[in-house]
Amino acid sequence: GSAQTAAHIAQVERYAAHNYHPLPVVLSHGEGAWVTDVDGKRYLDCLAGYSALNFGHGHPRLLARAHDQLSRLTLTSRAFHNDQLGPFSQALAELTGKDMVLPMNTGAEAVETALKVSRRWGYRVKGVPEDQANIIVMEGNFHGRTTTIISFSDDKVARDEYGPYTPGFRTVTYGDVESLRQAVDEFTVAVLLEPIQGEGGVVIPPEGYLRAVRQICDEAGVLMLADEIQSGLARTGRTFACEHEDVVPDIYVMGKALGGGLYPVSAIATNREILEVITPGSHGSTFGGNPLAAAIGHEVVTMLSEGEFQARATELGSLLSELLTPLVRTGHGNGLSGIRVRGLWAGLDIEPGGPSGREVSERLMRRGVLAKDTHGSTIRIAPPLVITADEVGMLVDAVADALERP
Ligand code: PLP
Repeated sequence: GSAQTAAHIAQVERYAAHNYHPLPVVLSHGEGAWVTDVDGKRYLDCLAGYSALNFGHGHPRLLARAHDQLSRLTLTSRAFHNDQLGPFSQALAELTGKDMVLPMNTGAEAVETALKVSRRWGYRVKGVPEDQANIIVMEGNFHGRTTTIISFSDDKVARDEYGPYTPGFRTVTYGDVESLRQAVDEFTVAVLLEPIQGEGGVVIPPEGYLRAVRQICDEAGVLMLADEIQSGLARTGRTFACEHEDVVPDIYVMGKALGGGLYPVSAIATNREILEVITPGSHGSTFGGNPLAAAIGHEVVTMLSEGEFQARATELGSLLSELLTPLVRTGHGNGLSGIRVRGLWAGLDIEPGGPSGREVSERLMRRGVLAKDTHGSTIRIAPPLVITADEVGMLVDAVADALERP
């Protein structure tokens, strides 16, 4: 890196908390699938803001809509109405096929909202005695960073020394139907899961698992909460990853790409008989549903309703999968022990004895490709869905080369 890069990194290390371990690159511009660093070097962005940038950097439609709204009205608080929230809410309800939405800002807040709605629904509608509700979560989950959410994380790094932890959660094995069936009891109000575990390493549950979860929830009168914050909004080739099994959850939890990477926008979508447990004053957010967020979110929903991004993710995802497959080989020290691909989303496991995930990420960076390791030896690939077929080829060539030499 240049002196300029080193100076930026030294400054952030000196003045900002060390809660991340970024690759040593300092970015200043982005367009489509590409970003540029302070020295003018270009990189293919294969992380896409953890899937917040599904539509790429600076998508013209999103920029135009944001600029327009920015100069008109940005915040009213929910003490008053604004003219953007209604159209956004209707469009998002229609996209999800649900009656209503509740807008928040970050993913963690939307997860918290789903948990609060489920508990209250349990007490008011299901008839669970107050404070007795339990919610079932999955091993290896990632749902955010609040004290309640990390209370049911099994990642020591995310959780240690933040106790006392919020009670009322039970963990079962992801992908194992029996484990879930045994955990459900009469006080269970919800099952919370990622239809594909993103931070866990793009872990796709066995075929039929989501349908089985749906069925168990139906039989036991339990809400199925799908955290589609990373998996949803076209990443996997469908609007929602649950669609791969034709499953409709009771509550969709959305974030990341809902704000197009321009702005934090999150929401839950569900039906009236569930969401009506939320009454004035019982939940909220200063910024949730603000007109700038609603305008950007509305444009995102309009783009998603046209289907182009889902189609791109499907097509280019099969190309990605096809090109990656020959890299799956062990015994040579330069291969992958496995890949998991769904749409334009891939988890690549580096074969044991090969370079670490961090090392491969740094090698990719030197080759002009930005991706990040998760859980040590897995590389997550999640480029903006505006990536081209040629760029998918470039990316796979860079991976093959990075596995071979520094
Ligand atoms: N849920 C899932 C599945 C996620 O991947 C994430 C973020 O990575 C979150 C929730 C938390 O979202 P946020 O960081 O916006 O709070």
